[in-house]
Amino acid sequence: METREDHYQSMMQAVQRYSPAADLDIIERAFAYADNKHAKQLRKSGEPYIIHPLSVAEIVAEIGLDTDAIVAALLHDCLEDTDASYEDISRLFGETVAELVEGVTKLTRVQYSTMEEQQMENLRKMFMAMSKDIRVILIKIADRLHNTRTLEYQTPAKQISKSMETMEIYAPLAHRLGMQKIKWELEDVSLQYLDPAGYQLIIDYLKQNEGSANSFMDAVQSKITKRLSDVGIHGSIYGRVKHTYSIYRKMRAQNKTIEELYDLYAFRVIVDNIADCYNVLGHIHDLFNPVPGRFKDYISTPKPNMYQSLHTTVIGSQGIPFEVQIRTWEMHQTAEYGVAAHWKYKQNVGDGTEKEFEWVRRLLENQQDTEADDYIHSLKVDMFDDEVFVFTPKGKVISLPAGSTPIDFAYAIHSAIGNSMIGAKINNRIAGYEAQLHNGDIVEILTSKSAKGPSRDWLTICQSNQARIKIKQWFKREKRDENIQRGKASFESELRHIGVDPDLIQDPELLPVVLKKVSFDQLDDMYAAIGYGGLTAAKAVGRIKDELTKATKSVSANRDILNLSKQDAPAATASGVIVEDIDSCMIKFSRCCTPVPGDDIIGYITKGFGVSVHRRDCPNAKAAQDPAQAGRWVRVTWAESPDSTFATSLQIDSVDRDGLMLDIATILTGLRIRVNEISSRAMSGKALSTINFQVHNLEELENVRNRLHGISGVTEVRRGTD
Ligand code: MN
Repeated sequence: METREDHYQSMMQAVQRYSPAADLDIIERAFAYADNKHAKQLRKSGEPYIIHPLSVAEIVAEIGLDTDAIVAALLHDCLEDTDASYEDISRLFGETVAELVEGVTKLTRVQYSTMEEQQMENLRKMFMAMSKDIRVILIKIADRLHNTRTLEYQTPAKQISKSMETMEIYAPLAHRLGMQKIKWELEDVSLQYLDPAGYQLIIDYLKQNEGSANSFMDAVQSKITKRLSDVGIHGSIYGRVKHTYSIYRKMRAQNKTIEELYDLYAFRVIVDNIADCYNVLGHIHDLFNPVPGRFKDYISTPKPNMYQSLHTTVIGSQGIPFEVQIRTWEMHQTAEYGVAAHWKYKQNVGDGTEKEFEWVRRLLENQQDTEADDYIHSLKVDMFDDEVFVFTPKGKVISLPAGSTPIDFAYAIHSAIGNSMIGAKINNRIAGYEAQLHNGDIVEILTSKSAKGPSRDWLTICQSNQARIKIKQWFKREKRDENIQRGKASFESELRHIGVDPDLIQDPELLPVVLKKVSFDQLDDMYAAIGYGGLTAAKAVGRIKDELTKATKSVSANRDILNLSKQDAPAATASGVIVEDIDSCMIKFSRCCTPVPGDDIIGYITKGFGVSVHRRDCPNAKAAQDPAQAGRWVRVTWAESPDSTFATSLQIDSVDRDGLMLDIATILTGLRIRVNEISSRAMSGKALSTINFQVHNLEELENVRNRLHGISGVTEVRRGTD
């Protein structure tokens, strides 16, 4: 077993080889400090803990990072696992090192589980956004690389979960940062744990064919070497079998066996200058037949992660195709170490501040996981400065504008959450509404059914337009409610003034006539207009006076009919509702709240038109439940009638966009819902759609409601009177 001195020596050698300008004194002090802090700790392998930071520092040195990064790598677990403090590290090793260590610690603390691809993408962005200094993520990748190399000491469950994280987060990040070599190693080792059989199959095949592969590669190599020396080009050539995971992925993607897979082999020619790259290309195409359509010039058009090379695929002896990559030494450095290589060149220029690495963020944002020629430039260059990424308690990543507060978070989840919010917790601690969210925070919103709704100052606290719009909507609706209440009160007092019972207006037969006379779609609209002052109560009543007096006259006679038909046992009516104590009376479902089986219901004996069934929580039912009316309310229950359907309606608030009605119709058709009527009104970018349709019960209705809510652009789906 290698001792910790061996590891120390090997790390120091890497520093001297790859970072000759590094300050050895401070690195030595950092080692001594970390060694002392971790003194009593052991790794799962049984080795002293310090071997881990030493190995991470060695990787960090190998990829060419500077003294601060190497020192931070040595100290990277001190904040999390020892009693060292930020202040200690800052005092002993400087502010920059302390910030790097803290940055790595924060990333270590992020907890996450496997999620959908879009979520993973947000998580990767979160990682980038959290690493204000690009060195933080590079150290974290080095940390993961060493942990991956030593996975054998972990439990099988941990091996799998860590390997998945590596595949989903760290390998893609290494790729984006252009660190090809590390990416390959992360992928190959992870594959070994995630699909041992699939991995072994490839390894076995490659081993079996090692002999012929080697002689094939030797032959190609000497052929190229000879040509280059003949024409006097100075270059270095070597062949390799492609990395295991890339073979694995190709087999999966193309659904082929390894025998059927073409180009398992790749050659690299590294030369001194760009002119020679193109010269070598010419000679390769002269020696072997190129495969049409496979030439790619990443020198004139570098990949988004800065990768540059010429790629071509040619056919060798026995018709075996292979890829040749041609590049300069500088391009090679970049290909192997990506951003880190770039760092190396810049090492003596800047101070490693954020600004300097702005381009990295830009590059990460722009980059698609496709070849350079099909990637599309995004205009959102300042993405990471503008966004903050936080978690829900269940681990979903939510992206919000920078500076966002719990209010923004609540409304991003759902407007109902925002409207019923009574408090918030950030990382399990109670936080104020104005608290600023930071990357990686876990945010929980406390809600209450009796919440009073948003307050006006939330509008100035919140950062996101989304929250602001939803809060404004709430106020608009609230105000409408106030108007309705006020309007209703003055309308009803006007009715009483002319000797008409205000309840008469609710009568299902009379109501449509009344509404037509006053030219409103529903009573609430008329009340709102009266409350707002757009219409006087006297004028409204004047228009419907005749109808009202006519109806009033027939009331008493009808009530007698109802009383005569009382029987002992309740019976189901054809309408699917049982009215307590009354058999075979006319049943009407109220149009205001359109109840369906599953809703808690109540019946109202109307003046002349039988029993009108309301949802118990319908405002119209509530309003009329004063003691004076008690005798007219009857208990009603749903009869068992599984095959019957009931007319009901939903109102959909959404943005006004093309295809909305089609989306609504598609969902309804998919759910086999019979639609009676569907209509939509658009106004200043918003649309209000109403659908009248048939359902069997509340469960089905809620399902429809949820599905409609999922349509893009839909902000709210309401039942009547909600
Ligand atoms: Mn570590």
